[in-house]
Amino acid sequence: MWLAGNMTIRLFDINESPQKKGGRPKLTYEAAGKRLKIKLASELAIENQNSTPLLLHAANISARKSTENEVIKKSDRTGLLAPSPITPEKAFAFFMENGFTKQQYINVKQLSKQHGCDIYPSYSKIAEEKLKCRPAGIECTENEAKVSMQNLLNHTASRILLMQKEVCEILSDVTQCTLIFSYGFDGSTGHSLYKQKLSIAESQSLDDSLFVTSIIPIKMIDQKQRVIWLNKSPQSIRFCRPLKIAYLKETTSLILEEKENLDNQIKNLDLYVHAFQSNAIFVKFDGHLTLIDGKVLNILTGTNSCQSCPMCGAKPTQLLTTIDFYSKIFVMKPHTDQMPLPAEVVDLLDSPIISPGVGHKNGSTSQNSCAEDTDEENGNDDVSDTFEIELEEEVPDDIEN
Ligand SMILES: [Zn+2]
Repeated sequence: MWLAGNMTIRLFDINESPQKKGGRPKLTYEAAGKRLKIKLASELAIENQNSTPLLLHAANISARKSTENEVIKKSDRTGLLAPSPITPEKAFAFFMENGFTKQQYINVKQLSKQHGCDIYPSYSKIAEEKLKCRPAGIECTENEAKVSMQNLLNHTASRILLMQKEVCEILSDVTQCTLIFSYGFDGSTGHSLYKQKLSIAESQSLDDSLFVTSIIPIKMIDQKQRVIWLNKSPQSIRFCRPLKIAYLKETTSLILEEKENLDNQIKNLDLYVHAFQSNAIFVKFDGHLTLIDGKVLNILTGTNSCQSCPMCGAKPTQLLTTIDFYSKIFVMKPHTDQMPLPAEVVDLLDSPIISPGVGHKNGSTSQNSCAEDTDEENGNDDVSDTFEIELEEEVPDDIEN
């Protein structure tokens, strides 16, 4: 019996000793192989009823005692935000937002990978994502790059509907949408002149002037006038989608030619059909020529002096001396009706709500804003409010300059 008792104590010792001596101390854990490490960790976890918060807290305390700050930071974060791979879309947005070059992106990816956080997708994924942001049918010649309005609008609509997928899911019965956009053109001069030998005519081959036609999506609404997407910063150049960029000087003939070209394209715009969950969403387009400056407006309305009102052609002296608001002087010029102005503007100009006194003030305000060209702050009466979009669009130009 005495011997047998001794035997049991020895067995107990054999069972306990490898755990007590080898399992707990840190050195042994660090020296252990991969499998033993897993075993030791799982044993510790089971011992504490797999309570993750407790173990994390314990790791924190023990790390603080052993002054391993790296571990503290790591275990602090694991509870809240574990590293997760970045989606190609998000990575591409990050890439564009910071104006990265390909090499810079690869370097950032490599550095984070070296520090144990391989979360960036490969550059080839970024390149794929970039291609998705490009409308089909871009034509390039040596002095211009352009895309048809139909292709650009189709692409814009498809990207907006893709982005607002959740909104379409919630509304569920979206079948017809209208994409409201503003468009226009402007020229800029005084760029560096490089000695480029272009094969086109000498007079046109100057690369110091640029003429850009662009569109800005403003709003997308469905058949019940519910807003699917709203451009919250219509003044931002971020939403400016170029239709044509050309090395051309802004001249009267070019402006009229471009206007005609855009009018034709808008007239022939087709519906865009977007496939959405076995259904189709039809998108029609509603464009407004509001992305223009005073110079273009005057040319399009045939106003020779920028002192005169571009809508009715009234001169400053006429605006000051005419008392009767219904005078023939204030009748809109015939071709201004043809301009695709927002309906509200036309309604307001026709409506008798405006009293003669206010009308007179309106006339002089529009004359002022025309003369000063960018002075939007004065426009706080009715007519100027309706011109808000037009005036706002001038801001990106100012930023660019
Ligand atoms: Zn007028």
